[in-house]
Amino acid sequence: MDCVFCKIVAGEIPSRILYQDEEVIAFPDIDPLAPVHMLIIPRKHIPSLAELTEAESSLIGNMAKIANRLAKNEGISDKGYRLVINSGKQGGQGVAHLHMHLLGGRQLSSALG
Ligand code: 5GP
Ligand code: ZN
Repeated sequence: MDCVFCKIVAGEIPSRILYQDEEVIAFPDIDPLAPVHMLIIPRKHIPSLAELTEAESSLIGNMAKIANRLAKNEGISDKGYRLVINSGKQGGQGVAHLHMHLLGGRQLSSALG
């Protein structure tokens, strides 16, 4: 499958792995929008949040828990940070493999759209 994040999961595209377990990996965004910008993704190819099945719904909680832990490790937990999941074309999703952005390390805009 021609999916850039599946290639990172498979190790075909080298990336600095910041966290991994049997379900999830995390790595830095290639084009960071903030001093801390990481991506938390499932190993499994799930195209978008909209295509998450009911059986997989616990995944999002696990991803958020890992993001919170990474934020603590980065020392941004107290100051604040943002978790974002873009879904579909109008949601601004560019890579069709479910991912959660962890953004922080600077004052983020309160504008979301
Ligand atoms: P989206 O717009 O789909 O929510 O976010 C996709 C993110 O993936 C973007 O922030 C983009 O910079 C990042 N990205 C795209 N290709 C790569 C890559 O090959 N490696 C890494 N580390 N990040 C990528
Ligand atoms: Zn994929």
